[in-house]
Amino acid sequence: MSSSARANARSRVPLPRQAEVVVVGGGALGTSVAFHLAEDGVDVLLIEAADLASGSSGKPVGGVRAQFSDPANVDLGNRSLELYEDFAQRPGADIGLQQPGYLFLLPDDADVARFTDAVAMQNSRGVASRMLTTDQAWRLNPYIDPDRFAGAAYAARDGYALPHAVVEGYAAGAERFGATVRTQCALTEVEVRGGEVAAVWTEEGRVRTRAVVLCTGAWTREAGRLAGLDLPVDPYRRQIAFTPALDPAPPRIPFTIDYGSTFYFHNAEPDGLLLGIADPDTPIAFDTEYDPVWLPLLQGAAERCAPALADVAVARGWAGLYEMTPDRNALIGEATDAPGRILYAAGFSGHGFLQAPAVGEAVRDLYRGREPRVDVSGFSADRFSRGLTTNESLIV
Ligand SMILES: Cc1cc2nc3c(=O)[nH]c(=O)nc-3n(C[C@H](O)[C@H](O)[C@H](O)COP(=O)(O)OP(=O)(O)OC[C@H]3O[C@@H](n4cnc5c(N)ncnc54)[C@H](O)[C@@H]3O)c2cc1C
Repeated sequence: MSSSARANARSRVPLPRQAEVVVVGGGALGTSVAFHLAEDGVDVLLIEAADLASGSSGKPVGGVRAQFSDPANVDLGNRSLELYEDFAQRPGADIGLQQPGYLFLLPDDADVARFTDAVAMQNSRGVASRMLTTDQAWRLNPYIDPDRFAGAAYAARDGYALPHAVVEGYAAGAERFGATVRTQCALTEVEVRGGEVAAVWTEEGRVRTRAVVLCTGAWTREAGRLAGLDLPVDPYRRQIAFTPALDPAPPRIPFTIDYGSTFYFHNAEPDGLLLGIADPDTPIAFDTEYDPVWLPLLQGAAERCAPALADVAVARGWAGLYEMTPDRNALIGEATDAPGRILYAAGFSGHGFLQAPAVGEAVRDLYRGREPRVDVSGFSADRFSRGLTTNESLIV
């Protein structure tokens, strides 16, 4: 079946009258959660307001890495890398995984000191990252100007993969284990009776259930409100650009990031590059219109980091939403102050794709009452009301 025929078919799947768990949101997180629950024998319904991967997970290429500055994010990234490497077997799909490594370029000595500590912590948790001189970094990526940087950090196992393929792979895998995946069907209300979740209401009617998992990305503030929860997630537009095929074709380079400006680039098919940068002046808004007005910011940062790319042509662009929390870390857990069982995995602040596999496993275990393999307790949404915000991670 073609992908558009499959998308059409999922929009017509009859809504079941009941499900043990209703997962809300058909991005990388919702489909991973649905797959891991269904594989474990749970009767799952996944509902998606639009089409699968129509939110942030519609990004054409997603970076995967285990380089972070705090143990919990390192463990989620590292476990997810293992699961992505095994994706062809389980759930069974080609996700175009490339592992040319991730190269952080560090503008000054303070950054080098901070990353040196982070690399030591990563190594202690089984991540083979290392510090590099700027010359070593230049040998990995000859576009960069080594004189502009004080050092670099690199992990060869990191890279990127195709989010659409991941979402489809997890959705189809969940269906093979009996899950129902229904698109064009928004959650409109969580019905509570006698202090328990009794049902969800959707645009297509009511479904009896005892448990809901919110995987609603940038829309989680509103979805949380429907469930009586305060889940602080705000949308910010982020843009990327693609060059045409370059002549000469680019060498194979790592996913390369200037830690100072957030300018990043890596190979893109066919023989081109993907370029991106965060615009610090982006307002909070559900704005996903690609706007080339952003290109001078990108080109200015490229000129400083990799002068050969300053004038490179841009063939097309794409805009999507970062789903930011106040401390730029995800919300993962089960609501303790809500009636019944309401779990959430949202607000990944720009690294949901690289954490989706491990978070799917963790949410499955939280639902089952088992100790998750990766300790996600620090991601509980009540950290804000309790004044326990986690350390800010290395964000791009
Ligand atoms: C330019 C850009 C670059 C990025 N680069 C990376 C990267 O390199 N690595 C990385 O890990 N991450 C990256 N990200 C972030 C990553 O894309 C997100 O963190 C991730 O896709 C979030 O997945 P999600 O499933 O939580 O959300 P989404 O994919 O947004 O899915 C949420 C879904 O919920 C649905 N929904 C909302 N409300 C309802 C409702 N009431 N009822 C039913 N459905 C509902 C929405 O329609 C949506 O499809 C990038 C993002 C952008 C924009």
